[in-house]
Amino acid sequence: MATTGNLFILSAPSGAGKSSLISALLKQESSRLMQVSVSHTTRQPRPGEVDGQHYHFVTVDQFKHQISKHEFYEYAEVFDNFYGTSETAIDEQLAKGIDVFLDIDWQGAQQVRMKKPDVTTIFISPPSKKELASRLRSRGQDSEEIIESRMSQAKAECSHYQEFDYIIVNDDFEQALTDLTTIVNNQRLKRSQQVENHQLLFKDLLAND
Ligand code: 5GP
Repeated sequence: MATTGNLFILSAPSGAGKSSLISALLKQESSRLMQVSVSHTTRQPRPGEVDGQHYHFVTVDQFKHQISKHEFYEYAEVFDNFYGTSETAIDEQLAKGIDVFLDIDWQGAQQVRMKKPDVTTIFISPPSKKELASRLRSRGQDSEEIIESRMSQAKAECSHYQEFDYIIVNDDFEQALTDLTTIVNNQRLKRSQQVENHQLLFKDLLAND
C-alpha cells in the first residue's frame, strides 16, 4: 500500500511570489509525487487563466450550494469573493501517496489546522513593503483601486505570520525555492514517513537470521 501523502499549506500576501514558487517546485517533481489542489472560486478568471487548471470558476449560487453540501475542506471570503478547497480532491490524492499543496489564505489555513494538525504550514513573505507594492503594480492585471485594496489585505495576511510552521522571505527567488524544497524534503524524511516507506528494510535489519 502507498504511503499517505503529506499536506502542505502555502500562504502569502498576493505579490509575495507564491504562485511562481509553487510552479517552480512542481517542475522539479513528478505529478505522481506532488500536486497543487485546484480551488473553487467565485471571482472572474484573469487573462490566461483556465477553468479546471488554475481554479474551478463557479457562480456564487453554485458555491453556496457546495457549502450546504459540506463539500469544502475549508472555505473563506477573500477580496469579496469566495474561495474553497474541495474535500474529496485532497483526500483522494493523499490516499494515493501524493503530497498535496494548498495555496490558500490565513483563514483557510486556520480551518485546515483544526482538521489536520499534522499539516505543514509555510508563510511566504515579500522582502519589503516597497517591493510588494512594486510587484503588484508590475503585474498590470489589476486596477489601481484593486492594488490599493490588495496592499491593505496584504497587511492583514502578514499579521498572521506567527501561526505558520515555516517562514520563507522571497527576496532571491532561487534561494526561496531552495528553502521551499528543503522544507518539503524535511517533511518526507521524518521518521514517521520513513518507517512507512521502509517497512521491509527495518523488518529485514531486525530479523534473527
Ligand atoms: P487570487 O485571486 O489572487 O488567485 O487569490 C487570492 C487569495 O485567495 C490568495 O491569498 C489565495 O491564496 C487565496 N485562495 C485561493 N484559493 C483558496 C482557497 O481554496 N481557500 C482559501 N481560504 N483561500 C484561497
